[in-house]
Amino acid sequence: MTITDDSLAALDAADPLAAFRDRFRLPSDVVYLVGNSLGALPEAARTRVTEVVDEEWGDGLVGSWNTAGWFDKPRTAGELVAPLIGAAPGQVVVCDTTSLNLYKVLFAALALRPGRGVVVAEAHAFPTDLYMIEGALGTQEGKQLRLIGRDAPDLAGALDSDVAVVVLSHVDYRTSALADLAEATRQAQECGALVVWDLCHSVGALPVELDAAGADFAVGCTYKYLNGGPGSPAFVYVARRHQDTARQPLSGWHGHRAPFAFTVGYEPADGIDRFRTSTPQILSYAPLEASLRLWQDVDLGQVRSKSLALTGLFMDLVESRLGDAGVEVVTPRDERRGSHVALRHEHSYGIVRALADRGVLGDFRAPDTMRFGFAPLYLRHADVGNAVDAMEEAIAARAWERPEYANRPTVT
Ligand SMILES: *Cc1c(COP(=O)(O)O)cnc(C)c1O
Repeated sequence: MTITDDSLAALDAADPLAAFRDRFRLPSDVVYLVGNSLGALPEAARTRVTEVVDEEWGDGLVGSWNTAGWFDKPRTAGELVAPLIGAAPGQVVVCDTTSLNLYKVLFAALALRPGRGVVVAEAHAFPTDLYMIEGALGTQEGKQLRLIGRDAPDLAGALDSDVAVVVLSHVDYRTSALADLAEATRQAQECGALVVWDLCHSVGALPVELDAAGADFAVGCTYKYLNGGPGSPAFVYVARRHQDTARQPLSGWHGHRAPFAFTVGYEPADGIDRFRTSTPQILSYAPLEASLRLWQDVDLGQVRSKSLALTGLFMDLVESRLGDAGVEVVTPRDERRGSHVALRHEHSYGIVRALADRGVLGDFRAPDTMRFGFAPLYLRHADVGNAVDAMEEAIAARAWERPEYANRPTVT
């Protein structure tokens, strides 16, 4: 099939999600392919932030803890995230960050498997996950980390009766490879372990079915595909069956049974509330709340179809037009992938910079990977075509040789 501007426009005209683009604020001269790192700004978020600042804080002052539902934000936001990850009510709170929530659930899971000393994780996991695991294990005697990709070839090879907890990413942050959540959960549980899923790169990119898979714990962020804004609070899922016995280590007053009794001695709240820690960052919930309301109108099946279409189209075009120029597609070509595409080229960093100068934003992950995220709510098939055109032009011009690309900023 030859891809023409007309055929891309026809695909956009037939896109059932097309109207969502108007609900985001996007600069007209930018093709934004970094929604997997920081989602775009929903228009409704701007209004909501102003409302929270002016009315709830400005006029309502401290009374808003009750009248504006501030105290319950982690729970109310959690109930809005729940359907996006296949969770029945009462199992999700939104608070803190992914790193902190991972620490909490890992600790809780370890305590539920006394007598087992091994945590299994992936050598290629997002580093903060591994760093937090190291931190948690450093507080305990005789526990050890076993890495898939270093100490064992795959999950099956890493599992035995010593394994207490397995920490897995649903979508690999670098390659975009998609794990089989139900199957991996089954395998780990069959050997008696508990599983912690990191959903950072899958929530909002595809349907996630935690309850159906019998999952134990999950964490994830809300500032990527969920468009909650820079540093918006993360979520934590704990299956109902673990909630009465799971104890988390960050035992702050908001996870206490009676925070306003101000008693001596920590007693965890019933249910998922015990995974809260401290005062919620109310201003950070404002844009997230607006975005999660927008997600209530979204059909996740349509998101998945469009995600596969956009990423598939991008990979096809890159391979046919840039394969000979040394660009290699790293992301799996079958459907076991998330909503971003990873490419490799010896001059990846310079190409990402040259694309940015042409209005096409992607990102770079050391040592040689370019990542391009395709957020289905606001990207068009035409954007895919424009991105590949720009890349072809940058490579033909050997743009990486430009001296100004030699300096790298802190965030790449
Ligand atoms: C983005 C991301 C994080 C981010 O963690 P923070 O605590 O929000 O900084 C963690 N894990 C994965 C897999 C991610 O993709």
